[in-house]
Amino acid sequence: MAGIVLLQGLNMPKYFVDLDKFDERPGQVLQLDKRDPVYHHLTQVLRVRVGDKIIICDGHCIDYHCHVETLTPLVLSIESYRECRTELPFKITLYQAMPKADKMEWIVQKAVELGVHAIVPVYTTHCVVRLSKSNGTKTARYQKIAESAAGQSMRGIIPVVHEPVGWDNLIKTLPDNQFMITAYEKADPQHTLMTAVKSIKDAQDIGLWIGPEGGFSLKEAEAMEAAEFNLVSLGVRILRTETAAIATLAQIVVLL
Ligand code: SAH
Repeated sequence: MAGIVLLQGLNMPKYFVDLDKFDERPGQVLQLDKRDPVYHHLTQVLRVRVGDKIIICDGHCIDYHCHVETLTPLVLSIESYRECRTELPFKITLYQAMPKADKMEWIVQKAVELGVHAIVPVYTTHCVVRLSKSNGTKTARYQKIAESAAGQSMRGIIPVVHEPVGWDNLIKTLPDNQFMITAYEKADPQHTLMTAVKSIKDAQDIGLWIGPEGGFSLKEAEAMEAAEFNLVSLGVRILRTETAAIATLAQIVVLL
């Protein structure tokens, strides 16, 4: 099979489990609690059988290759462990202006697949949806989507989806070690993503800002410019917010 490499564990389902309470050495076993969401997924959705192979990740880039030892109780036996090497060598935080309807769920899923480190939903001036009390439940849902996308795409961590924040608060509390890139449809077309990415120094974390359907306001764009963000054009066509997020992430990953 020229050109085809068989990656170990590629066809094995992967789950994240908090391993603090286990002795996670090879030869040891993990007994999963019925209250653990992974228990439900393995028994009800995947319907695992004795002998089935599964990867359990600790969320800190260590993968435990296991097989199902017994079903009741659900016991997994650890065969081996290894470092999970699927993380990008730099961290990208996506600052995504809250889009309409359920687009955020889609963005979370795809951004996690592409390797994003964290996602911060932001309420900007032109967001159609507003900050509301139901945000807590929404954030929990986004976090679940991030976890399942992380398992599916064989990530070594579960990217954090933060509580949504208002622009005014956020802009005052940003980390100063992040290299900020803003996709701005009114940016000088000469300011391309490639030029911005080329000026990134080693080991710098990246913050990527994507506006809502209504775009960033002029005031927001000016504030970002004043804070020395890199305002970049993605070309002459105007992309939808979700397309812009995913296309820009994919390009950064390739360019770096
Ligand atoms: N309402 C605006 C478009 C907003 S597009 C208008 O009609 O002009 C939503 C977001 O996607 C933008 O805020 C920006 O972050 C990003 N985006 C879309 N197309 C872009 C482009 N060609 N260049 C840079 N950013 C773009």
